[in-house]
Amino acid sequence: MESIRNMKQPRILTDIPGPNAKKLIKLKEDNVANTLSSVVPTFIKRGEGSMVEDVDGNIFIDFASGISVLNIGYSVPEVVEAVKKQAEKYFHSSINVLLNEPYVLLAKKMNEITPGNFGKKTMFFNSGAEANENAIKIAKYFTKKNHIISFYGGFHGRTYLTMSLNGTTKAHSLVPGPHASDIHKIPFGDCYRCSYGLKKESCNIRCAEKLNEIFSAEVPAENVAAVILEPIQGNGCFITPPEKFINRLIDICKKNKILLIADEVQCGFCRSGKMFASHYWKEAPDILTTAKSLAGGLPLSAVTVKKEIIDSLPSGVLGGTFAGNPLACVAGLEVLNIMERDKFTEKAQKIGTIMRNRFEIMKEKFPIIGEIKGGKGALVGLEFVKNRSSKEPAKEEVKIILEDCYKNGLILLNGGMYSNGIRPLMPLTITEDQLKCGLDILEKAIMKVSKQ
Ligand code: PLP
Repeated sequence: MESIRNMKQPRILTDIPGPNAKKLIKLKEDNVANTLSSVVPTFIKRGEGSMVEDVDGNIFIDFASGISVLNIGYSVPEVVEAVKKQAEKYFHSSINVLLNEPYVLLAKKMNEITPGNFGKKTMFFNSGAEANENAIKIAKYFTKKNHIISFYGGFHGRTYLTMSLNGTTKAHSLVPGPHASDIHKIPFGDCYRCSYGLKKESCNIRCAEKLNEIFSAEVPAENVAAVILEPIQGNGCFITPPEKFINRLIDICKKNKILLIADEVQCGFCRSGKMFASHYWKEAPDILTTAKSLAGGLPLSAVTVKKEIIDSLPSGVLGGTFAGNPLACVAGLEVLNIMERDKFTEKAQKIGTIMRNRFEIMKEKFPIIGEIKGGKGALVGLEFVKNRSSKEPAKEEVKIILEDCYKNGLILLNGGMYSNGIRPLMPLTITEDQLKCGLDILEKAIMKVSKQ
């Protein structure tokens, strides 16, 4: 079988979906809940690096990485080998029954690479949502307080608690209640769509000040256990708040003995140009949640916590049958070694620069581009509007762009509060040819929709 890893461009042979995919889609429709939707209507056959082949022999460039999971790319030989070796020894023991070494080694590594020059401990779980559930549990247990603050536009998962934390009313956050109580939401530092209609230069970080307002109007600060936020909002197309916003939050939390939880499920593991986006902060968060790229595609999440906080919990409060599966932990160890060895933070910076330069040129040409989002490392996205003054979201146009992209061999995700943005999440190992080719396909799609 020919290797597709270093192909310079996609190869589309059929309509998407092609005949083999159509048969499987019928099987899916007959057997899987309709609520399960996918961006590209086809089935994967194999993936290598940043390239994916489907069941009809179509080959795509992947700018989605399975939603930011494959920062190292598909099928990295060292990771495959490590998992095979572990699979021959044992798949599972459950950490609550019999201890396993990969779990402990990976915890040590996470404690070393996460922000904060203080003692830390790490526990593993299966998904980003589960990590956030446990982070809240830890914060409440330690502080003996009930209330939590989260942010407009934030996304923390699909479980009941995390739905309650989400700052959006999209389908994944909107199921009949009761929802978790004692959660208060405030505006994020989104300067393009400022909740107060202010200008960044003169706003005095009004949005972060809302936290102090809440302490007077809704809940006293002494009843608040934690503030949880994504340092850079992923599903929001990489909304990156001003440094002053984060600084103000850190100060307010410190003054009021409120824990700060950074959800780096999406923005972590080098994509921001640093190992973690909270490495840019003036002080490290008390609790850091991670998942997605940690184990290069095997399900694994982590909660890394200041020692004195996590050690305040009595035995048996946290755990789970599959939590910290040894196959996933050996993959995680390999992934982190590769990220450090191959300087993934530099790769992210380089990708980000190429994307930003291209997006600047596109913005000059296409008024439909309202804003170039983000900017740290490879976290660079686009927001589309019908009109630059009114900023009316161009959601339908984004749908057309994404469809045009996959039909021409580029897999891409939408994002944004109004689903009117795109958020490129390519593997950080993408070749320059593949990156440029993907951006060409995207530009053509934007050009077509701009002419309509
Ligand atoms: N937190 C953030 C920032 C995310 O982007 C996601 C998923 O997209 C989650 C949490 C939930 O992770 P999972 O889907 O693994 O539960």
